[in-house]
Amino acid sequence: MAVIFYYFLLRNLFSFSGMNPTLSWIEISRSALKHNLQTFRGLVGSERVLSQAVKGNAYGHGLRVCAPIMVEAGANWLCVNALFEALELRSIGVEVPIYIMGYVPLEELKTVIENGFRQVVYNKETLEKLREVCRELKMPIYTHLKLETGTNRQGVLEQDLPAILDIYRSEPMVILEGTATHFANIEDTTDPSYAKYQKENFDNMNKKIIQAGFTPKYTHCANTASTIIYPETHENMVRVGVGAYGLWPSNETFVSSRHLETKVELLPVMTWKTKVVQLKKVPANAAIGYGCTYRARYDSVVAVLPVGYYDGYDRKLSNIGLVLINGKRAPVRGRVFMNMVVVDVTGMPDVKLEDEVVLLGRQGDETVSAEQMARWVDTINYEITTRINERLPRVVVE
Ligand SMILES: *Cc1c(COP(=O)(O)O)cnc(C)c1O
Repeated sequence: MAVIFYYFLLRNLFSFSGMNPTLSWIEISRSALKHNLQTFRGLVGSERVLSQAVKGNAYGHGLRVCAPIMVEAGANWLCVNALFEALELRSIGVEVPIYIMGYVPLEELKTVIENGFRQVVYNKETLEKLREVCRELKMPIYTHLKLETGTNRQGVLEQDLPAILDIYRSEPMVILEGTATHFANIEDTTDPSYAKYQKENFDNMNKKIIQAGFTPKYTHCANTASTIIYPETHENMVRVGVGAYGLWPSNETFVSSRHLETKVELLPVMTWKTKVVQLKKVPANAAIGYGCTYRARYDSVVAVLPVGYYDGYDRKLSNIGLVLINGKRAPVRGRVFMNMVVVDVTGMPDVKLEDEVVLLGRQGDETVSAEQMARWVDTINYEITTRINERLPRVVVE
């Protein structure tokens, strides 16, 4: 039922956009998503807050379709980057606490307070504006103070803590609900020393905050990698992202995790599909596509697929990528176009017009993983899924 519902909902939405959803879509496996959430619940135990990151359109998996399933599967909180994402979650009826981890313009902080969102803070200006608006609305704001421990992105420096804490002291409606930090060097290495250094800095700053008379309810620093491999970073809340989508933060994290007692298994959630929209013969020596970067080495049959770099199929996959048709690999020939790509189906006589194609995910015994695609274009799996165009429908399958 749910599949049909989302399908028709999205079909109606997209019929206005000029993009035909029946030609390229993302399938989201409900069971895989639930399995992953339950895996993280198992790692952190029943008492800790499992706050699931759904920024970047749920890492490209679709905020609207993933968030309700994640909540059903046990996510206590959701974390987003921006106010518009928090509002979108509320608009679809998500009721769990929503934590905004990115900067919100001073002018929009009123909306944060009115909606009861949790807000990260790391500067005086934001706190002073929150104080002003809380007084005006006679409403509280639950804030999480980001502490600088070595990533050198958002955090408050130790030397600036007293001035920040003075603002909290001046207005009880501005509540210091939590303290947070974020690891810089946890996925790229199997060496824990920088993470340990950051954790020590975090602990020391938290001590100073307690000595100053504050008792934040939550402290949190763990992302997917540290939730899996460093239980000592769990504190009383974790912020899991990529792992819930069935993706490992890195090969290093996977390797480190194999030494642990419990072997974490993550199931990829996304399958990106399309259909063959043209089959044609290309004689030996003929060129394919812009720049004539590929010349047929033999009398070939190629399939045109209605997906290109507009959709998030990276142009660097030109002459490098593979797609799956009828459970077999078909290599990309020539350059990826804005809205199309040509693949080689020579020697696959059973391929027909409108046959289903898997661009990312499993078909039969073959898989194109986000990690494989990331290696082809020299990036990380996070970027591969996150950059898939938001306009492609996300459809839930069991
Ligand atoms: C994205 C993000 C996370 C989650 O990171 P993953 O590596 O995807 O688990 C946690 N904390 C912050 C601040 C983030 O921006």
